[in-house]
Amino acid sequence: MAVSFLEDALEISSPWFVKDCRFDKDLGRIDLFLDFHEGAFFECPECGRERKVLDSEMREWRVPGFFQYKTLIHAPLPRVECEVCGIRTVTVPWSGKSDVLERGV
Ligand SMILES: [Zn+2]
Repeated sequence: MAVSFLEDALEISSPWFVKDCRFDKDLGRIDLFLDFHEGAFFECPECGRERKVLDSEMREWRVPGFFQYKTLIHAPLPRVECEVCGIRTVTVPWSGKSDVLERGV
């Protein structure tokens, strides 16, 4: 399935990408599965320096939906280890327009 338009719609770019997308019409729900490329670097949210990913944990976010459909993002939330600031959770591009729902599995 072509998912590149979703990357534009979500305003995400490398190292983030849409891995999978599922649409359940009966449930009225769209599930977007995002991931980042292995060996990715992310900005430390404190000092803005690029840091290598330490680890990540699956999370879910509710985002404004497409049409009437409930839309969820599932993605690993990365942490970086910054030698200045310590271990910090990365800010994801869609966090400003979503609510963190719950910890994933
Ligand atoms: Zn830092």
